[in-house]
Amino acid sequence: MAEVYDTENIFAKILRGELPCDKVYEDEHVLAFKDLYPKAPVHVLILPKRPYVSVTDFSQSASDAEIAAWIRAAGNVARELGVAEGGYRVLCNVGRDGHQEVAHLHMHLVGGRDLGGMIRREERQP
Ligand code: AMP
Repeated sequence: MAEVYDTENIFAKILRGELPCDKVYEDEHVLAFKDLYPKAPVHVLILPKRPYVSVTDFSQSASDAEIAAWIRAAGNVARELGVAEGGYRVLCNVGRDGHQEVAHLHMHLVGGRDLGGMIRREERQP
């Protein structure tokens, strides 16, 4: 089943120009801007412009051109912002278990410091 897209989500408003953003990259298919509450010296959000909720529907419904543009944008941003050499992390939160806050697909690109291990281990029961 297709995911229902809320046209009033905050990134939809940014994409329509109704809210500001600190843009770092844009092309026909993609907009990238700085995260308002950065978790690292570099923290950029990379969005397809069309209304996809998550990787789940994007991977099913987006055109090859959109998918290519999105992942190419990540490399472009990493090079532009100077983290390509030292390393960085890209991730997408999806849905409830992924703690996705904004229901418009976005890739986080974080870097500029040692990011530590990837995911907190589950607490073990005694
Ligand atoms: P997620 O939990 O993956 O949905 O992440 C949403 C991200 O959007 C968080 O890292 C927020 O800090 C960020 N965010 C929320 N509002 C804005 C905004 N107006 N401009 C830029 N980033 C935002």
